[in-house]
Amino acid sequence: MGNKASIINLHLLDACNYRCGHCFAHFNMPKVLPLEQWKRVIDNIIANSDVKRFNLAGGEPLLYPEIDNLIRYIASKHIETSIITNGLLLNENRINFFSGMVSMVGISIDSLNDETLRRIGRCTYKDELLNHSHCVSICKSIKTHDIKLKINTLVSTLNKNEDFHSFIKEVQPDRWKILKMKHFENAQYNNKIFIPNNYDYESFVARHSDMPLIAEREMKNAYIMVDAWGNLVDTGTENNAIVASLLEIDFAESFSRLNFNYDVYNQRYVA
Ligand code: SF4
Repeated sequence: MGNKASIINLHLLDACNYRCGHCFAHFNMPKVLPLEQWKRVIDNIIANSDVKRFNLAGGEPLLYPEIDNLIRYIASKHIETSIITNGLLLNENRINFFSGMVSMVGISIDSLNDETLRRIGRCTYKDELLNHSHCVSICKSIKTHDIKLKINTLVSTLNKNEDFHSFIKEVQPDRWKILKMKHFENAQYNNKIFIPNNYDYESFVARHSDMPLIAEREMKNAYIMVDAWGNLVDTGTENNAIVASLLEIDFAESFSRLNFNYDVYNQRYVA
């Protein structure tokens, strides 16, 4: 696959403690792969690609029971690990554990307003959410531990008018990505009502254009995604169709079946 596609996103599980209405991490896979099988997937990718970083995602990756051992295993292979989390389970102990093994923690922060977070579904069924002061404190702790901090903000019909200036100035992320929602649809699920129109998305970006941000308008065919059962999936399809099982087929062969867009990929990871 050449030396361009080097960040592989492992979506460790479907489960999440949040219930975002727009969430596309619906693989209909209630089970999780045991650690030994994830190790086989990781070995396959390392042997058949030039992977530089595994990005652990979900669902909520911190709910994966063996996540600490998985992080240790990737570190033992001298490959970087990053994590994208909703942040609710992050605390000082966990950030301490990451130190030296996880190069970047990304936190999805779509709103600074508790009521909007509830409307988006960024809270548990018991109404636990990442309140502003906890969020600021874990962001600062991540940076103190010399781990890069990334903030992901997904613009939707519910947060399109928000102002993030003071928050971004306060936590000083290494990267702030403003994402455009991707349409996702399968037999049970459709996120169409949450997708903002182009004007609303571009207005959000323009309103923050004095901040160091990355506007991500497109990720179709430019995001290498492994689902919760170890399948490489095609993000160019609206239901993330399975391309191949990485427990059975080598990664290079599986990847060659994807219609991968290197131009968009390079824009996504340039910063
Ligand atoms: S926090 Fe992320 S994985 Fe969990 S429901 Fe929300 S969008 Fe989905």
